[in-house]
Order: sequence, then structure tokens, then C-alpha cells
Amino acid sequence: MKISVIGAGYVGLVTGVCMAKIGNEVTLVDINEKKLEAIKNKRPPIYEEGLVELLNVTSIKLNSDFKKIADSKLVFICVGTPSNNDGSISLAQIETAVEQISHVLRAKKEYYVICVKSTVPPGTTEKFVIPLLEQSGRKAGNHFGVCMSPEFLSEGKAIRDFMNPARIIIGEYDKRSGDTLANLYSGFSAPIIRTDPTTAEMIKLASNTFLATKISFINEIGNICKQLNIDVSNVSRGMGFDDRIGSKFLNAGIGFGGSCLPKDLNGLIAESRHIGYEPKLLQEVLNFNDAQALKAIELLKKHVSLENATIGILGLAFKPDTDDVRDSRAIKIVETLLWEGANIKAYDPLAVENFKTLFPQIEYVTADEVLDSNAILILTEWSEFSRLDYSDKIVIDGRRVPKAKEARIYEGVCW
Ligand code: NAD
Repeated sequence: MKISVIGAGYVGLVTGVCMAKIGNEVTLVDINEKKLEAIKNKRPPIYEEGLVELLNVTSIKLNSDFKKIADSKLVFICVGTPSNNDGSISLAQIETAVEQISHVLRAKKEYYVICVKSTVPPGTTEKFVIPLLEQSGRKAGNHFGVCMSPEFLSEGKAIRDFMNPARIIIGEYDKRSGDTLANLYSGFSAPIIRTDPTTAEMIKLASNTFLATKISFINEIGNICKQLNIDVSNVSRGMGFDDRIGSKFLNAGIGFGGSCLPKDLNGLIAESRHIGYEPKLLQEVLNFNDAQALKAIELLKKHVSLENATIGILGLAFKPDTDDVRDSRAIKIVETLLWEGANIKAYDPLAVENFKTLFPQIEYVTADEVLDSNAILILTEWSEFSRLDYSDKIVIDGRRVPKAKEARIYEGVCW
């Protein structure tokens, strides 16, 4: 099928190469020419396992010109939906992209499908996207079809997740568009759930806010365990075998970050307030997560006076196997350490360049050089941190790196 993907970020680029890999003709459109150039040169601006290999074996057309989508049968919208200042989800990129798509496709005679993949508040596709598309005088469900099909990939393993989805959600405005997507995904061995666009949008936000809640839950249990001298990892293990609970997202630590969980949680909170419902549990999950990051600093202060001390930071990415630092816990922690007057030496295997754009003033060094500090904070559980020699160090571990327990003074955030 001829497919266009709008937005060449994590979701769009992965969607584009994976759709090409399974035999579709893909045009990837982005307004950022530099990004397109880097992808063209097989040097994508994001790190994803297997991405460069897939770029080498697939051929996708890269373009900043929307006219190139004219012969598409299906257009995926994968542009960003960042937070507004009040936490609500910004639809500005969606609006611009939809206007550009509409401008090109309004003259198209044959039926085509527009599918929103970006994470948006419930009701966006029906109340915002469709009215914008219909300004062309063409009718959704008649001249063209509309779907909302959220993406559940996890960064770092996005290609694996895309190719092996746990489920595929198709929120269809019209049956024909749902059939088109169901047909596209027919080769995947995952359950396909067909529903309406608003429910699909809510499934995405509810999934991410549930994961955020699960993490804050186990962190709270971890904080209690620490006081009681119980190893929370054993508690998680014992809980995880219960398939009503599941073992994933039960690692206690300094909390969640990244481009999705905090943003989507904030977005659903804002949306709830907008309709007059106070989401007390979700708000508490967010507050709790913010406080949890600072626990690492509380523990650090028990062992070192921060003013003028050199604090080594291991891990800047919001999780291992990615270079993404959006809403990383390291941001909050570094900000606080600088405010307390500490000097910082930091290392991350992939995320240094991204972190430098936020904190050019700190020192970026090798992992071994980080060890030469007054105390060390472990903020991302990169596997290579298990190879370091911590023996005569002070280590506060936010992510549970077993080798770090060999430190002279070792404290885990929840253990
Ligand atoms: P991103 O910021 O990495 O990429 C968005 C891309 O869209 C950018 O390259 C930007 O230049 C481009 N863009 C913006 N306006 C455009 C326009 N008018 N025309 C063409 N391109 C345009 O974002 P992302 O992380 O890929 O996320 C995209 C969406 O998917 C968001 O809604 C996000 O919440 C959701 N999502 C993200 C993930 C993830 O792990 N990153 C997972 C699932 C869902």
C-alpha cells in the first residue's frame, strides 16, 4: 500500500521503516530538513536498536514537501503532542499537519484514510481533526476515512515492539477505514481491537497512566520496605508471579520520566479538570513521582555536604538503551544539585549530547572519571554500570545496579 507518515520522530520514523519492511511503499514527511538529511545519510538523530540496519535494507522516500503524499492511500499522523504550560496536551503540531494534509488531498478523487497515531486527548479525532479535514468541503466517512490508532512502542526497543505488538487498537470513524487498517495489520499475530476513535484515544492515555501509577505504587512500597529493612526487589518478585499483577514496571527506584508517561499523565489530569472531574489519584501519582527523584538527594546529604562537593552522575537518559532525556529524572536531580552548590561530573553512554543542550555548564566525562567524585549517583540502569569498580566509593543508587553494592558506602533509594 502507498503510505505516508507525517512526522519523522521516534514514532513516525519507526512506523515508516517498519511499514516499508513489511512491503509498503512509504513516504516520510517532516518539516525538519536537518532531520530528514540525517535519516537520508543513515545517521538518524535518535538511537533505536536495529534502526540503522532497517534503514539500510528498506527504501523510504523522505520529504519536507507535503505534495509528495498526494497518491497515498493511507496517511499516518505521528507529529508531537507536547505539554502546554498547564499540563494539557498541545494540538498545535496536529493542527498544522492536518491543514497541510487537507490542502494536498482535498482534490483527491479516490477514497483514502487519515489515521492519527499521535497521543491526543479523548475526542480529538472526532471533534478537532475531522472538522479541520472537512473544511475542504469533503465528508469524513464518505470521501475519505478516519481512524485513530495509538502507538504503544517503548523507546529503545521500538522496532521490536512495532513488529511484535501486544495488541493493535483501531479506533474507526467509518468501517471502511477500520477495514483498511485491519488489512494492513493482518500479518501481525496480535489481537486487533476495533472501537471508536475516542475510546482508542482513552485506551492510550489509560494505559500510560496505569503504568505510571504502577511505578509510583511500587516506589511507595519500596519507601516503606526501606524503613522496615525489607528488600523491595524480593517483594516485587513475589508479587510479579501473580498474573493479575505481572512482573513488569515493578522495579522500585527514583521514578518515571521520558516523553510519554509524565506528559500523558499531566494531559489526562488537565483533561479531567476541563470536564469538571478532579482526578485525585492521578495527581498524587504525579506529585509522588516528583518527590521520589529527590529522595536520591536526601540520601546523598546524609553522607556528603553538597556545597562545593563533586558529585558524579551515572546515567542521564530517562531509561537505558535510549538517548532520550525528555523529562529524565536526571534533569530534576542535576537542577537541585546545582542549586545546592555542587559540581557535577556526568556520564551516559548515549544521552550526553542531548543533556548538554539542557546543561552545558556541567562536566561530561567517562564512566571511570565519574567515579573520581566525592559521591556517585546512579540514575539510569545501563548494563555497563555493572562493570565499574565502586569498591572505595560512596554510591546512592536510584536504579539498583547490583555491582554498586560493593561500594564502601552504599544506599539504594528504596532498599
Ligand atoms: P517527536 O517530537 O520525536 O517527533 C515529532 C516529529 O514531528 C518531529 O520530527 C517534528 O519535526 C515533526 N513535525 C512537527 N510538525 C510537523 C508538521 N506539521 N509536518 C510534518 N512534521 C512535523 O515525537 P515522538 O516521540 O515521535 O511522538 C509523536 C507522538 O507519538 C506524540 O503524540 C507522542 O506522545 C506519541 N508517542 C510517543 C512514543 C514515544 O515513545 N516517543 C510512544 C507512543 C506514542
